[in-house]
Amino acid sequence: MLFKTDSETKDDREIRRRIHHEADVVIVGAGIVGCSLAVALGKQGRSVLLLERSLKEPDRIVGELLQPGGVAALDKLGLKDCLNDIDSIRVKGYDVIYYGKEVQIPYPEDAGAPGTKRPEGRSFHHGRFIRRLREAATRTPNVTVVETTATELIKSGYTGQILGVECTTKGGKDFYFGNLTFVADGYASKFRKAYIRAPPIVRSKFWGLELKDADLPLPNHGHVILGEGAPVLLYQIGTHETRALVDIPDDCPTASVKAGGVKSHLRNVVVPSLPTCVQSSFLEAIENGALRSMPNSWLPPQTNKTPGLVLLGDAMNMRHPLTGGGMTVAFNDVVLLSNLLSPENVPELNDSKLVLKQLSAFHWQRKDLTSVINILAQALYALFAADDANLKALQLGCFRYFQFGGNCVDGPVGLLGGIIRNPFVLFYHFFAVALLSIWLRLSQSKIWKMPLTLVGSAAIFWKACVVIFPYIFSEIRA
Ligand SMILES: Cc1cc2nc3c(=O)[nH]c(=O)nc-3n(C[C@H](O)[C@H](O)[C@H](O)COP(=O)(O)OP(=O)(O)OC[C@H]3O[C@@H](n4cnc5c(N)ncnc54)[C@H](O)[C@@H]3O)c2cc1C
Repeated sequence: MLFKTDSETKDDREIRRRIHHEADVVIVGAGIVGCSLAVALGKQGRSVLLLERSLKEPDRIVGELLQPGGVAALDKLGLKDCLNDIDSIRVKGYDVIYYGKEVQIPYPEDAGAPGTKRPEGRSFHHGRFIRRLREAATRTPNVTVVETTATELIKSGYTGQILGVECTTKGGKDFYFGNLTFVADGYASKFRKAYIRAPPIVRSKFWGLELKDADLPLPNHGHVILGEGAPVLLYQIGTHETRALVDIPDDCPTASVKAGGVKSHLRNVVVPSLPTCVQSSFLEAIENGALRSMPNSWLPPQTNKTPGLVLLGDAMNMRHPLTGGGMTVAFNDVVLLSNLLSPENVPELNDSKLVLKQLSAFHWQRKDLTSVINILAQALYALFAADDANLKALQLGCFRYFQFGGNCVDGPVGLLGGIIRNPFVLFYHFFAVALLSIWLRLSQSKIWKMPLTLVGSAAIFWKACVVIFPYIFSEIRA
């Protein structure tokens, strides 16, 4: 063992962490993953150093709707009470509005054992939730939270093993050492470059507004507005506040500087597509509120293969935030990984060979849930931001599919909510939508136009394959 002797007491280990900056585990980033992982490992008796560059309550437009599958994982981690006392809102499902027509998509009943309650998600101010998670981490035995900025990974020149991190604390250099260093420093990860195959792909941004006392068509539901442009999301994040996220692709002509910029796009393109009841609060937010943006990134997952290092959370895997899946992936990853690395499975974290074996198991075992959330987010975004005729046909097919209700709603929203963990269910529903889209095209065609319609139908099917298969392939790589 590197950092612990058998006779060492809890106090000795705390002194090691505080004074000598040594622990079993060093975690970079006290965000969604960092805090929950610190709690899970600390509770197992591991000594944990949790490093965060700013312990102030964050003010961000990300991570504000937690799907039911994320709430369940939070519960497993013993952290569900972090959703209390933050003015969080219960989320019962979605309301999809397509060119003014509405379809309600509640989370499915009996999703767990038959007779269980309809599962719920929660929405909230991200910063308040992070504050509660950080408080939980600080309270957890064996965890020390430090405000410091990680600047470099410390690597053994001999073995290539990661030994810890170099940091800057109040302008001075600092070093933190652990048998295992977890990098959970978020979407703009400073450290992933050397260890991940390719950089994240960004094709659009979400522009965020905070609406005051907005009158939503279906309270306690996330709203997805589909029309001529890319999708808009609306969901309440507090008693009086509603988040609006407007997707704007990078090459969007109506948001270009020449066309008057993003505000002009919001006024002229987005506002007319919104339900009338929301328009006044949306316009007021454009005039008086802060307008902020975040890149919508796609980063396929990859196995951690470097001894002593684990990349996690957005640093390792990202998907379009349209479906609000990032935190659900994060908390479920923490549940799975903390189990795979528990003292019963890995008695000593400096056993690099065993740790790497468990990390390989982690990569494949997380697929049931995360591949579903990743593929669904990317594929649904392609349909909802449709910019050609075939994608538009698939978008219409998707809406009509939801209108059938029953399993045509329960399946997709169960996948999106992190409740159904089966990639084949996703495959089934996606191609059912493709076939329905083709049927809609065929059924509207005049008989003499049939040859042309058949060619068009083949193009729709081809488009469906082009949309989904690259994401499927990205999930089956090691
Ligand atoms: C626009 C947008 C909206 C989203 N909405 C949702 C949603 O509604 N629901 C959902 O589930 N997901 C959503 N997501 C995704 C979700 O926010 C992320 O998946 C999740 O926050 C990832 O958690 P993380 O711990 O990896 O990163 P973060 O939560 O971002 O945490 C990273 C932490 O690392 C710290 N840090 C960074 N660099 C350093 C350093 N050098 N040293 C020390 N500390 C450092 C940061 O300060 C931060 O605290 C959204 C994403 C975007 C872009």
